Amino acid sequence: MTRARMPRPHEVAAARRDPRLLRAAKEQQGDGAWRIRGACQAVDPETFFPAPTEPADAAVALCRTCDVQGACLAWALDVGDCHGVWGATTPRERRAMLVAWRSDGLAAGNADPRLGAVAMLLPLPRARPQEHPDPVGAAAQ
Ligand code: SF4
Repeated sequence: MTRARMPRPHEVAAARRDPRLLRAAKEQQGDGAWRIRGACQAVDPETFFPAPTEPADAAVALCRTCDVQGACLAWALDVGDCHGVWGATTPRERRAMLVAWRSDGLAAGNADPRLGAVAMLLPLPRARPQEHPDPVGAAAQ
């Protein structure tokens, strides 16, 4: 298993200007109601968990058509999820966004700002990608 490296300062600076991050900060929701509106409802969940050597283009393209991509990305950043595609972002992109999300206080209160950038290297409170049955939580309907 390859350990993710810490994002470099220029990557974090770029993440802070990323329109997807700004949209996530604006559209974040306190509940999971956004999930049932996801454009990926009828798509194979494996599409959103490509292998590291595979392109994530198909998933990212679908996310870009999705009305709830801001809320989706906010959720992924709140839980520190760095697997799979969420809100039109790849895990690598989200690692840099996560530093900005936590250090800049963009989260509405679900994340603990004391965790800082170190938190993204900790084990994630989420199923492994191959075990994740449904990236939009259709089961929660
Ligand atoms: S992963 Fe998120 S942004 Fe992408 S289609 Fe599903 S709900 Fe929308």
